[in-house]
Amino acid sequence: MSVGKAIQQLIEMENFLSGGFAVRGKNLSIVTNNDFEGKDMGTRDAAAELAKIAAEVQKCCKCGLGESRTNAVPGEGDPNAELVFVGEAPGADEDQQGRPFVGRAGKLLDDIITAMNLKRSDVFICNILKCRPPDNRDPKPDEIIKCLPFLQKQLAIIKPKIIVALGAHAARTLLNNNDAIGKLRGHFHEYRFSENSTPVKLMPTYHPAYLLRNYSQDNRRRVWEDMKKVMTELGINPKS
Ligand code: URA
Repeated sequence: MSVGKAIQQLIEMENFLSGGFAVRGKNLSIVTNNDFEGKDMGTRDAAAELAKIAAEVQKCCKCGLGESRTNAVPGEGDPNAELVFVGEAPGADEDQQGRPFVGRAGKLLDDIITAMNLKRSDVFICNILKCRPPDNRDPKPDEIIKCLPFLQKQLAIIKPKIIVALGAHAARTLLNNNDAIGKLRGHFHEYRFSENSTPVKLMPTYHPAYLLRNYSQDNRRRVWEDMKKVMTELGINPKS
């Protein structure tokens, strides 16, 4: 690798890991019709459809998690986002607030979004499961089967150009595949909104909570390399 390229990579890594990581964008809550007053018709329609799904999620008791939750966490963000992040399931902070990725892992996701030169309000953030599994245990297959239609409908409404699957559970579920995240990440896969729809690109990467537990330079570089591929697809330049 040339010295110039190495320096460029170092600068990018620095920007990724050390930026001014204060709260960005407006404080998002679950989408409602009123939030999109004055926006174009497509945005209003998508917002209304997402609000309907959010209302169904709030009432859902199809699996046992509905009984133990404080709040369901349908997801939030731009109804017409080009980029959707899909995590695993709400944790304690998310369960308390009814919003996705607001705890420690969420702060790191915010940092990643900022490093990509985006704001939280530019993207849509949601999870495979809409309710918190007790003690943050892994999602069970029957919970995923019952909850997945909510996510599939959300994705079909938003129609993002790119989906980033955060961690093994999100990646395996959306790709219907059992490979390790280390094997899945690093390149694009295909996701279809319906059987006959044109596929969109899906990039698996490490979950921010995994990254926090394994905060090595190599893992951070891997996530950043994945996000750079996403940015290239979306025509976004890194934050300078
Ligand atoms: N981890 C997730 O997978 N989702 C959240 O919303 C928060 C933490």
